[in-house]
Amino acid sequence: YGDPSQKIDYVFKVVLIGDSAVGKSQILSRFARNEFSLDSKATIGVEFQTRTLVIQHKSVKAQIWDTAGQERYRAVTSAYYRGAVGAMLVYDITKRPTFDHIPRWLEELRAHADKNIVIILIGNKTDLENQRAVPTEDAKEFAQKEGLFFLETSALEATNVEEAFSTVLAEIFNNMN
Ligand code: GDP
Ligand code: MG
Repeated sequence: YGDPSQKIDYVFKVVLIGDSAVGKSQILSRFARNEFSLDSKATIGVEFQTRTLVIQHKSVKAQIWDTAGQERYRAVTSAYYRGAVGAMLVYDITKRPTFDHIPRWLEELRAHADKNIVIILIGNKTDLENQRAVPTEDAKEFAQKEGLFFLETSALEATNVEEAFSTVLAEIFNNMN
């Protein structure tokens, strides 16, 4: 997971947003440390975690920002979005309201973030398929209409987490050139 002594060519700030308890912090912990916890604390003081990857022979430090529970009170501030070049908009496939709130999060993102920000919609917790409340097609259609990337993930099973981050980071990288 990255050699700390290596030189960094780029730093990309990516923000995680979405309702509380959809799995944002666990997606990040899976990506940054390959760890998962079933009883994750809502608030950990850390603002962001990083992981360095190589994209087209350049070393890219992904600096992934996680809310410290502020999403509960819809108190995510504009400082959180400042400088972000990517965003992961997360809902829980077993909780319909978390998907229904996505347009609001998108609106907030578009109000505060750079207009060229790369956005991926993520339906998390696919390991709970038997409790699914959001059909894949609904989300796919919404993503298409809004011009977002889309993937379903499971932070628990480590399904598509790597793919979600690499999709965003590769697109950010490509947009620079
Ligand atoms: P956040 O509030 O969006 O940061 O959500 P958390 O990452 O804290 O996760 C909320 C709860 O959902 C925790 O109990 C996690 O263990 C659980 N969780 C997160 N991702 C998954 C997943 O992919 N599958 C399952 N079954 N549970 C998950
Ligand atoms: Mg969290």
